Order: sequence, then structure tokens, then C-alpha cells
Amino acid sequence: MLTPQDVLALCRERGVRAVDLRFMDFPGLWQHFTIPVEKLEEEIFEDGLGFDGSSIRGWQAINESDMLLVPQAETAFIDPFTEITTLCMICNIQDPITREDYTRDPRNVARKAVNYLKSTGIADTCYIGPEAEFFVFDDIRFDQAPQHSYFFIDSNEAQWNRGTDMKRAGDGPNLGYKLRHKEGYFPVPPADQLMNLRNEMMMTMIECGLDVEAQHHEVATAGQSEIDLKYNDLVQMADDMCLFKYIIKNVAWKHNKSVTFMPKPLYGDNGSGMHTHISLWKGGQPLFAGGGYAGLSDEAIYAIGGILTHAPAILAFTNPTTNSYKRLVPGYEAPVNLAYSQRNRSAACRIPMYSPSPKAKRIEFRCPDPSSNPYLAFSALMMAVIDGIQNKIHPGEPLDKDIYDLEPEELAKVPSTPGSLGEALAALSRDHEFLLRGDVFTQDVINTWITYKQKNEVEALALRPHPYEFCLY
Ligand code: GLU
Ligand code: MG
Ligand code: MG
Repeated sequence: MLTPQDVLALCRERGVRAVDLRFMDFPGLWQHFTIPVEKLEEEIFEDGLGFDGSSIRGWQAINESDMLLVPQAETAFIDPFTEITTLCMICNIQDPITREDYTRDPRNVARKAVNYLKSTGIADTCYIGPEAEFFVFDDIRFDQAPQHSYFFIDSNEAQWNRGTDMKRAGDGPNLGYKLRHKEGYFPVPPADQLMNLRNEMMMTMIECGLDVEAQHHEVATAGQSEIDLKYNDLVQMADDMCLFKYIIKNVAWKHNKSVTFMPKPLYGDNGSGMHTHISLWKGGQPLFAGGGYAGLSDEAIYAIGGILTHAPAILAFTNPTTNSYKRLVPGYEAPVNLAYSQRNRSAACRIPMYSPSPKAKRIEFRCPDPSSNPYLAFSALMMAVIDGIQNKIHPGEPLDKDIYDLEPEELAKVPSTPGSLGEALAALSRDHEFLLRGDVFTQDVINTWITYKQKNEVEALALRPHPYEFCLY
């Protein structure tokens, strides 16, 4: 782990000329400012650097806007994209007068969540493994996609596109290798046109210290991709996700492409999820392996009970955009029902069976998507897991059938995911006591989140004419 002295030495060794200080805002975008390397003194790691918190979305009021950024030496990496050699560090946010960690700093929420886990005695470590999917777009790709897929495709049209793409070749660009809707998983190039781009993303991640497991094209039409990182401790994994998205977006930008982590950019095709694997460990031993269903321990079963019980509220953090709920619909490998299963990708909680090793035993929560703020999303998920274990919440029987094919009477018995961001926020306002424990999410954080999302996203969207209304009316 790097110390402040190590960082200063690294700056000298690598000829660093600028130091970039980064932090996560409340909704979930990395923010930054830069200082010349000469201004990076050892005291800064203790005393921090001032900035105006009032201009950051969802943060301080203007009359109490002075805040401190305190760089965390262990997060240092050399930015692979800048013209002059630049070292970056992730910062914690403090109040300059009281020197307390700021309650609306998402990284602080995550740090408190991990401390709370330790204080319960249940476990000392929470490993998180997210599988973030994303779309890569460019101008050519826009031409190649079915022209109307953004808003107007219906199931007949989708069928027509699948059957007749070749006939359309004369009308526009060559569609010979075009990946059709839901056929992107995962033919070799030239059908996969993004292999080189994803390799560059993967190599850049490795240079920056991320542990990459695999990269591949995803199920949707040309452009949907996934890069998987090895699991890590909760706070570090959230830090890693910030760097992960930064690298993906900037490598794409270098090649005149742009990336979106929006959960459902294309109607009629798969959306982008961020399935999140979670396991608890104590004294180096995994707590989720045992002799129960799918090789799970009692703790793991109760953890599932906690996740499924609190899912509607957790989704306000793990699926925090109005667009998130366009992904959570039947037919696209995204979960729609709050059930668990060892086989079923349509269940909200899946128990992966790839490896018999107890160390690999984990729960995959399939609801989250990559529009979420990883610090808040992972913390909310872990708090539900802790609640399930503390209160021995049994999740009932597993559902080992394809939920998409269930008879209506049977389906009616399985609770479903919220239908909109508004519903998830309403669930969070009813059910958040489990998040307040250990002062992890404060009442202020919950209220600010609900008000911010309701006003700036749910209501703002409802006020605007939608492109599809032009089609309908
Ligand atoms: N893209 C799908 C989703 O929205 C998941 C596909 C997969 O199983 O990896 O969750
Ligand atoms: Mg995957
Ligand atoms: Mg995937």
C-alpha cells in the first residue's frame, strides 16, 4: 500500500508534472481539479486542499460551501491519457472546521459501511465483483443500426429486421457482418468489431493497476461490451469502478467513439446491467459456503432473504435512473422478479455454480446497473445482506424455473422489481431503517437522495415531451 512518501517518490521517479485530485459526486460522476506537482507537499495528505462544495450536485448549501479534499495515497495511479505526466489520487471529503468526514461523500458512506460490518462481528471483509456492461457508439454504427430502433421498433419489426437485414444492404452500408439484436454473444471478428478497442481498454486498465479477468462482446447488437474485474474489498472495488469507467470512456473517445453506461439505450434489445457478486469473509474464511441449497451456508440464505426483502428500496441506489426501469422488463436477461435460483438468469439473485470451491461461493444480485454510484450501490446491498443475517430473514423456496415462462397464476405469487424510479424512491422512503445503522446512510443522505432524484430526474422527465409521443400522436 502506497504511503504519502511513496507517492512523492513516485512523482520524482516518473517525472510527474501535475497531480490530479478526484472524488465522486453524489449522483455518481468523478470530479477533479489539478495542481502542479511542486504544490504537492506531505502536509496536504493531512491538511487537505480547499474547494467549493456548493457547485457539486446534491452537496452543500452556498452559505457553508468550503470543503476539503484529502488525497488518499494508496489510490495513486499515473493517468494514461494526459499530455503531461499526471498522477491521480482519489480523495476523501472533510469539513474544514470540524475536520469530520462529510456525510454526503459517497466514499465516506462506503467506508462507514465496511466499519459497520466489522462492528457487527458477522464478518471482517465484504468482497464485491461487479460485471458492468456498456455500449460503444459511433456515427457509422448509428447508420448500421436499424434506423428506427431507438424508439419505434415493435416485435414484428424486430422480426423483420432479423430476417431481412441482407436485403437492406443495397439501401445503405454493407450489413454482411452486422450483429443483429440479441446476437452479439459472442462471434469472433469481423462480426465483433470492437475486439481491438476492448483490448486497448483492458491493457490500459492493467497498466493502471486494475485486475482484469476477461473482456467480451455482449448479447445486444454491435457495440455492447463487458469487461470484468476481479472482485475486491467494497471500498476499493468502488474506487476501481471509477477508474474502470474513466478508462473505458477515454479509450473510446481517443478512437472517436463514445460509451454509455445508460442501462437501456436501445429499445427492443438487451440493456446493460452491472450484476454484482457479493460474499462475506471472516478471518480469511468464506462465510457463504455450506451444506444448504446450491452449496450455500445459512448466512448466505439469510443474506438472500435480506436482499430480496429490501430490494425495492435498494434499487433506488443500484438502479438510480429513470432509464434503469426500461431494462428491468421481461425477455432481455434482466431480472424482473424478486426470487432466487442457482440456474436462473431471470431471478434477481442467482447462485453461480461455475466452481465447487467454497472460496468461490457468492450471491449474484442481477438487478444493479452501471448508471449507479458504486459506493452507494455496494453499501446499500451489503447493508441488506447484514440485515438479512442479523434478523435471519428466510427468502422462502428457490425458483428454479424460467420466470419469463411462468403461468400468470404462478407468476402472481412472485413479487416483482419496482416499475419505475418513482416507485423505488417511494420504497426507499418507507424502508431505510436498515441503511441508517452504524450511521452509514444518514437520514440526511436518504432524504437528499430521494429529493434530488425525484425533482431533477423523475419530475423533470415527466414534464418533457417524449420522442415516442411524436410517433403515437
Ligand atoms: N445484459 C443483461 C442484463 O441486462 C445481462 C446479460 C448477461 O447475463 O450477462 O442484465
Ligand atoms: Mg459476465
Ligand atoms: Mg454480461
